[in-house]
Amino acid sequence: QAGKPILAVNNIEVIYDHVILVLKGVSLTVPEGGIVALLGANGAGKSTTLKAISNLLRSERGEVTKGSIEFEGARIEAQTANELVRRGCIQVMEGRHCFGHLTVEENLMTGAFTRRDGKAAIKRDLDMVYDYFPRLRERRSSQAGYTSGGEQQMTAIGRALMSRPKMILLDEPSMGLAPQLQEEIFEIIRKLNEEQGVSFLLAEQNTSIALRYATYGYILESGRIVMDGAASDLRENADVKEFYLGVG
Ligand code: ATP
Repeated sequence: QAGKPILAVNNIEVIYDHVILVLKGVSLTVPEGGIVALLGANGAGKSTTLKAISNLLRSERGEVTKGSIEFEGARIEAQTANELVRRGCIQVMEGRHCFGHLTVEENLMTGAFTRRDGKAAIKRDLDMVYDYFPRLRERRSSQAGYTSGGEQQMTAIGRALMSRPKMILLDEPSMGLAPQLQEEIFEIIRKLNEEQGVSFLLAEQNTSIALRYATYGYILESGRIVMDGAASDLRENADVKEFYLGVG
């Protein structure tokens, strides 16, 4: 892929519980300003790859046992998830993970916890999030747990934006959403990429939508990258069509 990488994952191996080898040497790069899709079936290792990058494996008894990960040219394997957020790389977890008992706006504000700039800047960014997600402005005082699945996904992405990220790792943004809402979420991803320069690594089971919005894709099978290429080439690839796009 052309362009300077913002993220480079080099041949990582991940083991759960000291014995379960789940990633068997995964390498991928995300160029600055890119939208890269990490594709594969349920259980292929997509979430594990994202959690390895953002250092969220420990609580699941997982560990990166080989390889290296670089963000903006610096090694990050030893950095905590919070340190990484401060550097500008944040993960939005699968299943959305809003605080159900807090309002939408309180959820968004929790995303600013690593910031040291003033209230005025944070307020400006809150307005920016509401401009990208007008539905959230309408729902700002609702308890997040009572909002729709799409609104919770938007809240989770909006919360990540409040940390002023350079890069967002997004796990299954389309999961559980009706097709039109999936489209809405991906349109916002594209806008954030174009207007705010945010780079994205998207883990997706929905190959078809991911390859329409991404510039490049990697396909993961049983913990190994088995294919990668420009999204437009993958869309036309016979194997991808047969196994991932559901057309023979
Ligand atoms: P999904 O779409 O279901 O999240 P995925 O491609 O993201 O799938 P992972 O969640 O990364 O896949 O899981 C990859 C493999 O690792 C699966 O076989 C899974 O059972 C295993 N795995 C995941 N988490 C753990 C864990 N905490 N302990 C042991 N094995 C795990």
